[in-house]
Amino acid sequence: MNYDLLQSQLSELPLLQYEFFDTDRLEFSERIRYVCRTECPMYNTNWACPPAVGTVEECRARCLAFPHGLLIATVQEADTANLEASLATRAPHEEITRQVTALVAAQGVHTLTLSTESCVHCAHCTYPDAPCRHPDKMFPCVESHGIVVTALAEQFGIDFYAGADLVTWFSLILFDDHV
Ligand code: SF4
Repeated sequence: MNYDLLQSQLSELPLLQYEFFDTDRLEFSERIRYVCRTECPMYNTNWACPPAVGTVEECRARCLAFPHGLLIATVQEADTANLEASLATRAPHEEITRQVTALVAAQGVHTLTLSTESCVHCAHCTYPDAPCRHPDKMFPCVESHGIVVTALAEQFGIDFYAGADLVTWFSLILFDDHV
């Protein structure tokens, strides 16, 4: 992995912050999965969310198969009192996540990208009747894997609250640089 090249490429993107980390620093919690199950309307509706992604233990094993990770955060302006307006700011973050994933993958490593919310690539998800149409483009959300992203962000001093009318989004690009 050419970190100098990657950091130079990352510095050209509109990122609030990025940090490299070892995946053994990730904290997994059944509590996050409980929130998915009891509070998220996307639960059990698509391949990017639980229960399709497997148990938290299975997700943990999937993540830890990648020894390293890259946390990226972007901040977008929005009327945070308006949920729809806030969620609309997710699209540019997803595009940056796609770009960063491509930059990491271009170094010849395997990647697993976890991003925000649930998958919206298709107007109607095939779940649960047929396989995902775009498994190469589909990024499960960080929380779907039971990851406590606030704990990781705190390790790097990233505040979830960037300021009034600002939305902070996070993605994790996990990678294995031994291939
Ligand atoms: S890419 Fe399409 S089929 Fe796959 S999870 Fe997303 S919405 Fe569902």
